Amino acid sequence: MYFAHRNLNLQFLFPWLAGQGSFAYRGGKLTNPARFPLPARFILFVVLMLLLPAIVQADWFKQQAKIMGTEITVEFWDEDTAHAKRCAQSVFTEMHRIDALMSPYKPESELSRINQQAAKQPVKVSEEMFNLLHKSIQVAELSRGAFDITFSSVGYLYDYRQGSKPSEQQIQDSLEAIDYHHIQLDKNKRSVRFARSGVRIDLGGIAKGHAVDNGIAILKQCGIKGGLVSAGGDSRILGDRGDRPWMMGIRHPRKKQGVAVVLPLSDTAISTSGDYERYFIENGERYHHIISPRTGKSVNSSWSATVIGPDTTTSDALSTTLFVLGPKQGMQLVESLPGIDAVIIDAQGQMHYSSGLLAPEAQPDKVGQPKPIM
Ligand code: ADP
Ligand code: MG
Repeated sequence: MYFAHRNLNLQFLFPWLAGQGSFAYRGGKLTNPARFPLPARFILFVVLMLLLPAIVQADWFKQQAKIMGTEITVEFWDEDTAHAKRCAQSVFTEMHRIDALMSPYKPESELSRINQQAAKQPVKVSEEMFNLLHKSIQVAELSRGAFDITFSSVGYLYDYRQGSKPSEQQIQDSLEAIDYHHIQLDKNKRSVRFARSGVRIDLGGIAKGHAVDNGIAILKQCGIKGGLVSAGGDSRILGDRGDRPWMMGIRHPRKKQGVAVVLPLSDTAISTSGDYERYFIENGERYHHIISPRTGKSVNSSWSATVIGPDTTTSDALSTTLFVLGPKQGMQLVESLPGIDAVIIDAQGQMHYSSGLLAPEAQPDKVGQPKPIM
């Protein structure tokens, strides 16, 4: 299924195949394809599709690496391969730097230092950390605490790889430590302090988005005009992919390799949060990595939440937020935010989408109505 986004239209999808004008190349002249019989158009289409990858991908440079516990992809147009390799390497180096700063699993990271010390005394932090903490608190306020980086006060007790979870008692004992109001930022001293003990923070819902934004900034400095940086479910697109948009698939949350929907996008950011990335199933119940700050347990109202926005720091934080809020409250929030769109697949497999995304067959009165995913 295809959606149209307000930043794009679907005319690029081979309109001439549908006989809607545009052009075809014949005998050195541009002609109206409506005059071609359909079989001829089909054969031309197949030949073009076979040739296109060779022509279009000739100078599309793509590299992948495993950093921050996820697959990083950098893909862009660059005719100079040596230059392209250097630029991609700079992006990967940046991702490693952010991982070393913000990983909760590295005891020497800046984030770990905050968690170790901030309940005892104010901890002076880097400007980058301060800004990300500030942004996290803004999203917490916007979402009335659905997004809350102190979720980790309970969240750290889950180990999805080992399949272990805290007991009910452990959750109750730590639940009061989840509240972003416990984080006190001092702008003048650029420091952070926790109002009580037991508070832990984790930037897993926003740090990858920040890393992707920085990756795109590096590509821009490299002079790249069209490209993509993605880290797991967070992607940002610079320009077009040649003369067409980037085709961004939203994974089917219950079919491995399956795609629920494809969005043609240009110059935008897209993030998906799902319950299928890190999880284990016990007694038929799915325990996954997105935690309700209210209950300290994973949220089960959706399978995935996708946000399209101007930058990945925002789309990343908001996709986690929408996952927690669920389709109804999540869409209400999205409709109140200019420049933000969303697709939420709920726990019944129904797809909800915001008014900025128009399905080709959608009538205005159907926008916002859920529909089953394929
Ligand atoms: P990923 O790309 O790792 O799947 P998501 O953007 O889907 O990340 O966010 C999930 C991550 O967000 C979790 O691994 C955790 O670190 C963090 N997180 C979980 N629950 C919350 C919450 N309620 N508020 C903020 N961050 C959260
Ligand atoms: Mg997120």
